[in-house]
Amino acid sequence: MAVPKSKTSKSKRDKRRTHYRLSILNITECPRCHSKKISHRVCENCGYYAENEIIVFERKDKKKEKVEKREADQKKRRNEGGK
Ligand SMILES: [Zn+2]
Repeated sequence: MAVPKSKTSKSKRDKRRTHYRLSILNITECPRCHSKKISHRVCENCGYYAENEIIVFERKDKKKEKVEKREADQKKRRNEGGK
């Protein structure tokens, strides 16, 4: 197994680490929903990229179904309670 011949000095180590940094994201406005998004990425808000629907959100539909179910149940309870 290869073993380093000598210890890396603090100076050498720190000089190497000067290149460790995060790049700044290029944030643009979505042309469809006008929310902020990363350029050249699919919009997380509406799921569109260049007028093409990439992500079809199903969660919203499920939520709506749940709400509708709750409302239906509440109506049933009210009707049952009224009798
Ligand atoms: Zn969008």
